[in-house]
Amino acid sequence: MLPPFSQIAVEHIDVAVQTRIDHVLDVLETRLAVIEQGALPTWDNIVAPLEDASDLLEQTWSPISHLNGVKNSDELRVVYEQCIEKLTEFGTKIDQYEPLYHAYKALSEGEHAKRLSVPQRAVIDQAIRDFTLAGVGLSDDKKQRYGEIKKQLSSLSNQFSNHVLDATQAWKIQFDDALALAGLPDMAVAAAKQTAEQKSLTGYVVTLDMPSYLAVITYADDRALREKIYRAFATRASAEGDVENDSQLNSVQVDGAQWDNTSIIEQTLALRHELAKLLGFANYSELSLATKMADSPQQVVKFLEDLAEKSRGHAEKDLQELRDYAQGKDGITDLQPWDMSYYSEQLQQEKYAASQELLRPYFPAEKVLEGMFDVVNKLYGITVLPEIEVDVYHPDVRFYRIEKNGEIIAYFYFDIYARDKKRGGAWMADCRTRRVKEGKIQLPVAYLTCNFSSPVGDTPSLLTHQEVTTLFHEFGHGLHHMLTQMTDAAVSGINGVAWDAVELPSQFLENWCWEKSVIPLISGHYKTGKALPDDLLDKMLAAKNFQSGLHMVRQIEFSLLDMKLHADYDPDNVQTVQSVVDAVRQQVAVITPPSFNKFQNSFSHIFAGGYAAGYYSYKWAEVLSADAFSLFEENGVFDRDTGEKFLQTVLANGGSQSAMDLFVAFRGREPSVDALLRHSGF
Ligand code: ZN
Repeated sequence: MLPPFSQIAVEHIDVAVQTRIDHVLDVLETRLAVIEQGALPTWDNIVAPLEDASDLLEQTWSPISHLNGVKNSDELRVVYEQCIEKLTEFGTKIDQYEPLYHAYKALSEGEHAKRLSVPQRAVIDQAIRDFTLAGVGLSDDKKQRYGEIKKQLSSLSNQFSNHVLDATQAWKIQFDDALALAGLPDMAVAAAKQTAEQKSLTGYVVTLDMPSYLAVITYADDRALREKIYRAFATRASAEGDVENDSQLNSVQVDGAQWDNTSIIEQTLALRHELAKLLGFANYSELSLATKMADSPQQVVKFLEDLAEKSRGHAEKDLQELRDYAQGKDGITDLQPWDMSYYSEQLQQEKYAASQELLRPYFPAEKVLEGMFDVVNKLYGITVLPEIEVDVYHPDVRFYRIEKNGEIIAYFYFDIYARDKKRGGAWMADCRTRRVKEGKIQLPVAYLTCNFSSPVGDTPSLLTHQEVTTLFHEFGHGLHHMLTQMTDAAVSGINGVAWDAVELPSQFLENWCWEKSVIPLISGHYKTGKALPDDLLDKMLAAKNFQSGLHMVRQIEFSLLDMKLHADYDPDNVQTVQSVVDAVRQQVAVITPPSFNKFQNSFSHIFAGGYAAGYYSYKWAEVLSADAFSLFEENGVFDRDTGEKFLQTVLANGGSQSAMDLFVAFRGREPSVDALLRHSGF
């Protein structure tokens, strides 16, 4: 049954969610009581009933959570936050529920385990792993320490991001005359004027907020201004932190060092290391990799170093090209980090004037969708068909069914236009998970959400090629969720898939929108239907790899730093973070940032986000998706057998087998970096 959107009333949500939570806890208690009385734990007497109850909760919660993202209101937000609090508390309770852990342990070690299917085995193993990582099974004193560390880490992470935020917001620079901002696009200048007004100042104000910083560093003709903003940005939340730049305002100076994150980073690394040791790991990197596809920190480091070695020459070439260009253009003989984006942008404009805007008329949303459905039809033999008469939450939302061999196998909501009260960005979310319920298959249902501009008058919605890529990306996630063959919720679709392998199916599908043979399927001028002219197409394809060498080594630098900081941490011989930063730069960077650069002090991904000892996964997933696609390059991009093979291995099995095994089953060997290097133009 689909969510009855039109009947969801905000005032009923809280009670509905609470009822479902109570039901899960009720089932849990009843089942554990049976086991306590002597029954041996089995799949049917504990795991299946719990999954049934949890799925009901999921069914109630998923439309609420979705509406909060796509049709927000003040009333809904209040209830949503109340529910999130409840759900978090409930989740923690289950994660650390000792008797449940023992029941799973007994199940996994007992006779009954022999009768489990491969996916069922994976469900049990993953549950036990997660219990262990949550500190269940530790002795009482260790458990107490575990709780303390977790608490301190969460507070440190909070402080870290608050410092970054405060340091970012404390800096501004004001100009009376727009001439100071020469080079910036009109829109950015207008934004600077608006910022000034918001701060009750005259003229124009530039800040370190992303849009403002990016506009200045990319477009400002004034080299001294670029240097100034670069320095301020790169020293945020450090002892060298720049603050109020008040040459023209004469306001009071604030001491930026109050937001210095250096000691927070040191404490975080020490506590993470202690936590890992407590749970039986050698270091935090190993703990992080316990839930990932990569085996060991050594494997990741080797992977990154290998990639760095093979990319370095290209990064140097990119840099030289930029140096030559800056010298030829403005006589710059000492290209600095604050010149990179500026000359890079101009060089790109000069070389590939094909701006995203010129491409737009050739990618009307309807044509792109039709073409994309055609692509997956050719790949997997599935047909996507619109359904009407479905209870949707907004008239713009479409609903589709997916058929294979005349049978319906999945459904999805497609909500592609930006509008008021809808969160920005693009994402896929789970509405219903494929599983067996009372002997019947519950079909998977996905929510696919984008934020493209909606049709205006007679002009249809027109996409940039970047937006087309986003669409394919999210649809790739959607297919991972919808084409699964699994029937146990915890490993069905994207559930249970290793964290660093989740982006494989999404990035993989992106490849098709860069294929010359696919472009005619997904494009056509919205007025004339004419194909994208060859010169525009060639420029679009060539621009894809502009400065890809430099981009690659930068990402490797961040990834390597992250992995080494966590893997090599030694409490008896603590290296300063700066010395690790310097060593990594020495190893991979082609342009050494100035010594004042303290980018690590605002590296929120790893110190205030979920990417600790996991930043490498961006590159890792790119390698996997490029390598998977290379089999299509060998066999033909629409080779049906290769498509079926991908479907039956990577997509069908969800999280029931290791991501590496599934990859090998598809590709016939372990992943290699060659395809990514080739796709990057190396
Ligand atoms: Zn993604």
